[in-house]
Amino acid sequence: MIQKTRCIPDGKKELKKLPIDHHTEADYLYYPVTSARCPEGETCVRGGQFVKIGEVIGTRKGAFFEQPMHATVSGEVVGNEKHVDQSGKIVDCLIVKNDFKYELHETIKDRTNEEIDALTKEEFVEIVKEAGLVGLGGSAFPTYIKLNTDDKIDVVLANGVECEPNLISDYGLMMTNPRAVVEGLIFAMKASGAKKGVIAIKKKYKEIAERLEFCIHEFSQYDISIAKVGNFYPQGWEIMTIKNALGIKIPQGVLLSKYGVLNFNVSTLASIFAAVRHRLPVLERYISLSGNGIHNKNFRARIGTLMTELIESAGGYKDIEIPKVLILGGPMMGTNVTQDDIVMTHTTTSLIVQNEEQLHEEPCIHCASCVYSCPVEIQPVQIMNAYKVRNKDILKQLEVNKCIECGLCSFVCPSKIHLTEYMRKAKSFASK
Ligand code: SF4
Ligand code: SF4
Repeated sequence: MIQKTRCIPDGKKELKKLPIDHHTEADYLYYPVTSARCPEGETCVRGGQFVKIGEVIGTRKGAFFEQPMHATVSGEVVGNEKHVDQSGKIVDCLIVKNDFKYELHETIKDRTNEEIDALTKEEFVEIVKEAGLVGLGGSAFPTYIKLNTDDKIDVVLANGVECEPNLISDYGLMMTNPRAVVEGLIFAMKASGAKKGVIAIKKKYKEIAERLEFCIHEFSQYDISIAKVGNFYPQGWEIMTIKNALGIKIPQGVLLSKYGVLNFNVSTLASIFAAVRHRLPVLERYISLSGNGIHNKNFRARIGTLMTELIESAGGYKDIEIPKVLILGGPMMGTNVTQDDIVMTHTTTSLIVQNEEQLHEEPCIHCASCVYSCPVEIQPVQIMNAYKVRNKDILKQLEVNKCIECGLCSFVCPSKIHLTEYMRKAKSFASK
């Protein structure tokens, strides 16, 4: 029987051995005025104005939420320029010239334990909203909306599984700052009223378990435990993580909170910690450059840093004559981009650069591997066929909307058909 989860080569072993370089040399920082969830936006600063770290410089506006934009360095607002964002689109960005003083805005002040203990749920939600926090695991879903549920929450799950190959951003965070994850989890438990917290990590990451356990001991008044899950893909998909870490089966499409669960990525929890304790927005992320076309390196870099700077700092491309394939994110779920002029945003954690290989799609041999492998039990090959003839009714019957774009169907296809790309297009076509 073909498995619906797989142990796939994850490329992380070598990346984890590389040191994490704290990149603070960016002369200019670029802040997209829009995002995939917020197609409109406006700035509230003018050219020549000096801004400080944490200062609000604009607002991104979406259909159901607004996200404040914050400066991540101190310096002068010097203009606008177009760059590529996390979704691969070219967008307008506000430019701040770094003065390298890293001055904090006057609003950035630590809260005391007493102040935090006195916070109500509504105040927690407001803090998270004002910090502009979104799901840092890649979803970019507004964190305050998740936290603001009326459902009774029994358990908050900290998802540190990070199953996508080549991604070690959460790993880097848990190794260097496990305490922020644990404290962020405690704040999310306080805000939601949950009595229990569980941190899900891969069983094989013993070093992470040790560091987290060390921190958990310090907060023994809280019921927090670690759940160790297998090294399978897509183990980090929330439905699967909850099933394996908590033993709760939640049907796809149902709000997790209806089952008493809130699920946050570990980096999101660390950002909740920074917002509540320090009144800080997300300032930095861990990011890896990997692939056979580039000198591999890990960084901790400011939101707003240009990827071209990191590429240069890593030693550049190995051979600029060879055509490259650029993937933002992991190889299974990432986005192909055509230029490296990319701005680091909240959800940027990886750039993969592969020397181009000519992979020719062969005709389908009806092996059904894609069907047996699909974790949400839909039929990729049938969906592809329905999309090719643009049959919306059949696409709906085949429940294309259930696809989580995990990439497994493409991975297993012996004919090298880009099924996931068909799934993305079919989902978009069927939803119009
Ligand atoms: S990409 Fe979609 S269709 Fe393909 S295996 Fe994953 S969930 Fe199934
Ligand atoms: S895995 Fe590829 S070859 Fe096999 S049925 Fe699916 S599309 Fe066809």
